[in-house]
Amino acid sequence: MSIDRDTADPSRVTAFSNFRVEDRDGRLIGAIGLGVDVRDLSRELSDYQQRYGAQVLLVARDGRVLLPSDGPSAAQAPASLQAVPGLAPYAARLLREPQVSLQIGQGQGQLFVNSRQIPELGGVLVVLQRNDPGQDALLPILWRHLLIALVVSAVVLLLANATVGSYQRRLQLQANTDKLTGLLNRTAFDPLFAELVQEASRRQQPLALLLLDIDFFKAVNDTHGHALGDQVIQHVAGRLQRAIRSCDRMFRWGGEEFLILMPGCGAAQALVRGEALRQALRSEPFPLPALPAAPTISCGVTSYRPGETDQELLLRADLALYQAKHEGRDRVVRLDPEVPADQVARSSARSGRLEQ
Ligand code: GH3
Ligand code: MG
Ligand code: MG
Repeated sequence: MSIDRDTADPSRVTAFSNFRVEDRDGRLIGAIGLGVDVRDLSRELSDYQQRYGAQVLLVARDGRVLLPSDGPSAAQAPASLQAVPGLAPYAARLLREPQVSLQIGQGQGQLFVNSRQIPELGGVLVVLQRNDPGQDALLPILWRHLLIALVVSAVVLLLANATVGSYQRRLQLQANTDKLTGLLNRTAFDPLFAELVQEASRRQQPLALLLLDIDFFKAVNDTHGHALGDQVIQHVAGRLQRAIRSCDRMFRWGGEEFLILMPGCGAAQALVRGEALRQALRSEPFPLPALPAAPTISCGVTSYRPGETDQELLLRADLALYQAKHEGRDRVVRLDPEVPADQVARSSARSGRLEQ
């Protein structure tokens, strides 16, 4: 590389990059090269300077400025690296080392210096950037904007979270709710049962389970149609629900079958409450005139024996319900938790109700 005057126009200084072209045996057969008008380079430098507020100097190894930037700021350009205000103590290091980054305090401002040796040009490229106190005034604005951006992001995240959360809760509610009656469904049973068992053992209190089934319901469907059957189920569910306590949990267990968990009730107490539910269906006039009378219900009652599985408990309640049906319906039958499991299993196998 060389920086030279253009032989055709001596007023122009051109940076040449020349390449020797040789044949296979190393004999010179010609030369090719590329010349760049140095003024173009100067213009680039001053354009950079204006755009980014940085001063770019190409200096020789002794610190002389080789290529001053062109344009309006050219007059203020320093003649050497040593002549740049505040830089004299660092000039030797900048000219010696391959690459240097410095931050020099100047009054209230700062001077950032980056240098890099460019061996091809036999010089050093130095970029100087000042930040004056005026620029510091922008910092609070920047922080304020950052803070606003943070607050906006946080609000958006919270809103998104709330929306997704409520959507999830709605989905969960839907999954646990029976459409026809609005009661809990079987899906909701396991977690609620586990929760109530835990609470019962913590408080040392009993937990009763009631299984209720509408009597002769098939006849309602057969005589009056499925739609009226649905209305009967809705009506019975509503009336039972109004008659239970707020701490009781009622599920639609099957077609016209309901299950109620009663925390704090033993089998004897649950029998009384089951009776009250059976009576509740008769106490008010029945609102479906198509039916000659309100339907009756049969009810099986038992209570939880600590340590048993939900299957064992359900089996006993189911057997009690079967007995109520067998003894003529429209009644409540209680089976105490003390009845041994194998006896329950034997009698349920005999009854065949569970295979039904
Ligand atoms: P039992 O006194 O022995 O309980 O006699 P039942 O006729 O009530 O008993 P069964 O189990 O034979 O009949 C229950 C009927 O309930 C059969 C089924 O068609 C009907 N069913 C089940 N689910 C629904 C429902 O969602 N809507 C209606 N309308 N009927 C249903
Ligand atoms: Mg029935
Ligand atoms: Mg049934």
